[in-house]
Amino acid sequence: MARETVFVVEDEEDIQELITYNLMKEGYHVRGFTNGEDALVQLRNGKSDCIILDIMLPGMDGLEMARAVRNSPGTKHVPIIMLTAKGEEADIVAGLELGADDYIVKPFSPRILVARLRAVLRRKQERPVEDQRPVKIHNIEIHPGRHEVMIDGKAVTLTSSEFKALHFLSSRPGWVFTRYQIVEAVHGVNYPVTDRSVDVLVVGLRKKLGKAGKYVETVRGIGYRFKEQ
Ligand code: CA
Repeated sequence: MARETVFVVEDEEDIQELITYNLMKEGYHVRGFTNGEDALVQLRNGKSDCIILDIMLPGMDGLEMARAVRNSPGTKHVPIIMLTAKGEEADIVAGLELGADDYIVKPFSPRILVARLRAVLRRKQERPVEDQRPVKIHNIEIHPGRHEVMIDGKAVTLTSSEFKALHFLSSRPGWVFTRYQIVEAVHGVNYPVTDRSVDVLVVGLRKKLGKAGKYVETVRGIGYRFKEQ
């Protein structure tokens, strides 16, 4: 049984109850908050293994809270799953760029929520990705040290940017990244490129990957993700 403590920050009582009930049933300890200010105080005093955070909150909103969590040394590694309303892609992008780990769009099924929570907690325990370690996923092998990509054992030639983007995404399968996060991984911070140029990069990458190109998935309005195995 799970024994992790999950903070749930959500001002809508029925949703708060739904989440609490389902997580407790799975064995999680749950602490509920109806605003970000109270949750932050308790976060500084006690342990939390994950925060399920609604974006629309009275007072400090979820994005401000996510920023505060990430900016504080004691809490910056606590995973955050954002709750968002349908059609709030701009908020999701902002949240991911602030360092949220995942997001769920309302209305959601409790089973999906539990599955996402498990995935986020599992990733937290995994060792951080070593940049030089080869990635083997689906039928693709990526060797960062040799700058080499093999599909079904056959070498594929990529540009340096395509290679970096593929390595970045495939090292974290299932994670959604915004275009800005991809640019940052490929070129470093503050590199002046447009969203459109990331899309062009991905189109080129997919083409060179052939059938394996389908593993680079578009997440509409948000960015891209590499398909999990
Ligand atoms: Ca709300």
